[in-house]
Formats: sequence, structure tokens, C-alpha cells
Amino acid sequence: MRSHSVSAEGGTAAVLFQEEGDNEESHIYDTIKGSDFLADQDVAERLVKTMPLEIYQLDHWGMPWSRRLDGRIDQRKFGGYSFPRATYAQDKVGFYEMQTLYDTCLKYENIEFYNEWFCTSILHDNKTFAGVTAIEMKSGDFVVFKAPAGIICTGGAGRIYSFSTYSYSSTPDGLDMAYRAGLGLKDMEFVQFHPTGILPSGILVTEGARGEGGYLVNSDGERFMKKYAPEKLELAPRDVVSRSMIREIQEGRGMVHESGAACLTLDLTHLGEETIKSKLAGIREIGIKFSGVDIVKEPIQIRPVCHYMMGGIHTNIDGSTEISGLWAAGEASCNSTHGSNRLGANSTSECLVWGRITGKLAVQYASNKDSPSINGEQVHKEEKRIYDGIFRGRGQVNPYEVRKSLTDNMDDKAYVFRDNEGLSEGIKRLSELRDMTWKHVDDRAKEYNTNFFNVMEADSMFRIAEVVLMGAYIRRESRGAHARTDYPKRDDLNFLKHTLAYYSDSQPHMAWHPVTFTRYAPVERKY
Ligand SMILES: Cc1cc2nc3c(=O)[nH]c(=O)nc-3n(C[C@H](O)[C@H](O)[C@H](O)COP(=O)(O)OP(=O)(O)OC[C@H]3O[C@@H](n4cnc5c(N)ncnc54)[C@H](O)[C@@H]3O)c2cc1C
Repeated sequence: MRSHSVSAEGGTAAVLFQEEGDNEESHIYDTIKGSDFLADQDVAERLVKTMPLEIYQLDHWGMPWSRRLDGRIDQRKFGGYSFPRATYAQDKVGFYEMQTLYDTCLKYENIEFYNEWFCTSILHDNKTFAGVTAIEMKSGDFVVFKAPAGIICTGGAGRIYSFSTYSYSSTPDGLDMAYRAGLGLKDMEFVQFHPTGILPSGILVTEGARGEGGYLVNSDGERFMKKYAPEKLELAPRDVVSRSMIREIQEGRGMVHESGAACLTLDLTHLGEETIKSKLAGIREIGIKFSGVDIVKEPIQIRPVCHYMMGGIHTNIDGSTEISGLWAAGEASCNSTHGSNRLGANSTSECLVWGRITGKLAVQYASNKDSPSINGEQVHKEEKRIYDGIFRGRGQVNPYEVRKSLTDNMDDKAYVFRDNEGLSEGIKRLSELRDMTWKHVDDRAKEYNTNFFNVMEADSMFRIAEVVLMGAYIRRESRGAHARTDYPKRDDLNFLKHTLAYYSDSQPHMAWHPVTFTRYAPVERKY
């Protein structure tokens, strides 16, 4: 219940109101267009066709969806959709979804939870899954879990940026396990910047706030989105809105927050106290507590903030990875639903759909398999990596300071706009930081040694941040969330393909993977 999913605020996308004009084809097209045509189209179709069932299943399991006066489940507007499609529960959708799923799991005695365990590596025998190594945080014991099948669902890794909406636990150790085990990481250069992170913390104001009618305003008091997306205005997809905001700031129409950061404002005052209190109560509380602003009374200062990773562990449409017996689901995976830009509310949907798909496949696979044999050498190598290489490492440099420099480097060089010079500097800075003597743990305790876990997380950040920077460096075009000032156009001739990164002892080995087209040829994206 402390997973980042509990902080999802705005909604879960599904087509529910066909009788009022919505339809699946429109959700499929919105997702593909939102992705800047990099989504695998068969995958987008599967998402859309499975989702209504997931909404009703959660409903039957006790999910308190917000409802219309007539008792039917309500939906709100969200960015990039042609129809109100975000199914919500006030502004705490993830919290209620997680509560509902967790409660449901508790009904079954054969579901066992290993809470507060830290997985460190994937064990496999020649690309057949065999289990994982993990540390029980409470005791500090290093343990091997044997398993015929597994699913990686370790979430996104947005804490590789300093200004981020993510939980502090959203570090890339899960992606890194997969990467070190030889699995490809796909499309990692596509990082989503959400338009409305509050200052100075980066905590999210849900897109639902604009869905309910909120305005973005510059220092001239102008609703500037009318210049950039005349039809959709503030409800254009996130990449479009974030770029427009940075342009406003660059052209001198931003404001300055008391922390010194450039920003704009989100105005919700015209919605009125009643709507805000009934539909955006959590956001109001966040504004008061973390920015000292009551959104009922005054606009709140915001700026684009790292929010989601479109990339992840390369899987096929079923969530299968390149290791047999191992699947990946949720934000850690990249089954290519979202291409180069995810639409808001489509991520919790993806988690629900591929949670079901991979769960079923893993169970079928495991029931026909014997207990795997473990390769002792892999376990020994992993023990040496974490205990000799990190726990007993030596050095003068403070690992927390190095980690902060790494995340600042990402904010600086791989933000909304990127270019060749910035990315090369970012890659160079990363390798300078890596060479410092920071890989050591000051706390010698065995039990609950958070210092140890923090340094292991920082170690994984180096490899994954490098993959993001390298992907951004070699993708010499602008597509979705990846905007290069030196290559401002989308280049379908050369880059209508997924990026893949594989681990090697020096730099990541980069490769390409085709996009699946089943319905729509790429066209220019306008909103
Ligand atoms: C503030 C915020 C608001 C959002 N709002 C929405 C929204 O309204 N609608 C929407 O569709 N999407 C939203 N998203 C995106 C969406 O919430 C996430 O993409 C999704 O919830 C990710 O779920 P997950 O299960 O993949 O990962 P998580 O919920 O992050 O869960 C990962 C789990 O893996 C565990 N883990 C990680 N590493 C290890 C390890 N090494 N060993 C053992 N365990 C490990 C973690 O402890 C955690 O329990 C939002 C995201 C944020 C940050």
C-alpha cells in the first residue's frame, strides 16, 4: 500500500458511455495519436478493448467510483481524449484502486505477501527464469527465491530527476535488475513532464484540475494555450502543454516562485468552492499544506515536472520478456501502449489490463513446470557485487550528494527540451560522478539498513540515467515527449522505430525495434 500507485489522482481511462457517443475506435485513435504514432497499434487496441471489463470488475470488488446523480459511474475530461473518459474516485483514484485490490487479495489464503523485501537480481538459466535474489530488510538476510515464473512490476523510476512527482521509492532498481540480466530496455528517452507540479516540492496537481475546467495563465494574465492548441487548449496532451509552458517562460511571460524557479499559474478559482471541495479535495489540501495556497481563493504556481516513463523493460503484447518464464507489467514494462507520449489516465488502465494478462500467463506456465535449479555462480557474483562492491566499499565522497548531483544533471540536460550539446555534457557529467569514490555505506547495521538500500538505489540510477541520456542522444528527431531543439521535426523516415538498450561493460549497446501498425498511418499531430 506504499507503492507509488496509491498517489494516482485523476482517473483511469475506459470507454463506458457508448450510448452517449463514445466508442472504442476513438479511444484507440486518441492513444495512438497521443503516442505520436510510436505506440504498437495492436497493443493500444488490446488496452482499449479490455478496459471496460476492468472498471466493472473493480466496481464489483468494492471500488468507490465517483457517480452521477442517476447512480451510474461518472467520467471526467482528460488531456488528449475526444470524450470524457477518465473514470475517477474524487481525486484519489490510485489510493482507492490499491485499497480495493489489496482487500480483494486478502480474501485468498494462498496469496502470500513478502513486504519490505528488496530484490537485487534476476536468476536465470540460459534465459529461462529461475528466481530472484533478495534481502529481507528487517533482518538483513540475503536470500534466494526459487520460482518457475515471475512478473516484474517494480514501477517507474522518475526519481532519477530532482524535480519529480514520484514517491521517493520510485528508483530504477527494478529496471536495473532486468537490464543487468540481459533484458532490453525500450524507449527510455521518452520521459513525460506533467504540466502542473507545485513548487518547490514537485507534488502533482492532477490533470483532472484542468479536466474540471482549470486555466493555465502567464504573467500577462493570458490563457496562453489558445496560441498552441486552439481546439483542446489546456486539455491538449501533456507533451504539448509542457512545451508551450516552457516557451512562455523562455519568451519572458513566466513568473518567479519564491524559491527562484520560473513558473506559470493554474487558476481554479472560477470553479467555485463547492466543485473544488467535492471533486478536487485532495488537491486543495496539497495546495494549502505544501504551497501555502488555497486554490479556492487564488491561483497556484506550477511548472512542468518529471512524471512518467513511457519506456521500460521490452516486452511483447502479452508482457513476455526475452527471458522465458518472466513477464513484466505496469510502468516498469514497455509493451508499447504509449509510444512516445502517454495520455493521462491510460497508465492505471495499462496496469490493470496487463496485471490480468501476465498474471494468467505466469500461472499457466508455472503450473506445468518443475522447480528450477539455481546457478550458484550467479548468486555468488551478486553477493560480491552488493556486499564487496557497495556495502564494504570505501570512499570519501558522500553518496547522497552524488545522487543529488546525478538527479540535478537529469533536470538540467534531459528536461522538456534537449539538444546534442546538453546531452553530451550530461553523459560526460554522469561518468565523472560515477568515477568518484561514493560507493560505500556508513551504517554498518544488518537490520533495516536504509543507508545500504539508498546506496544500492543510487548505483542503479547511474545505469538507467545513462540509458535515458543515450537514447535521447541517438534519437535525432522530436517526437512526443522527446523534443530536440536541434532536430525540431518528427523524422518518420529514420526514427519511426523503438529504441532498445542492452547492458554491456562499457556503454549501453543500442539497437532498434519495429513499430506494429495495424490501423493508422502516421499524420501530423495537431490539437
Ligand atoms: C503523482 C502521480 C499521479 C498519477 N496519477 C495517475 C492517474 O490519475 N491515472 C493514471 O492512469 N496514472 C497516473 N499516474 C501513473 C500511474 O500511477 C503509475 O504509472 C502506476 O501506478 C504504476 O504502477 P506500478 O504497479 O507499475 O508501479 P508502483 O505502483 O510504483 O509499484 C511498484 C512496486 O514495486 C516495488 N519495488 C520496486 N523495486 C523493488 C525491489 N527492488 N524489490 C522489491 N520491490 C520493489 C515497490 O515497492 C512498489 O510496491 C500517476 C503517477 C504519479 C507519480
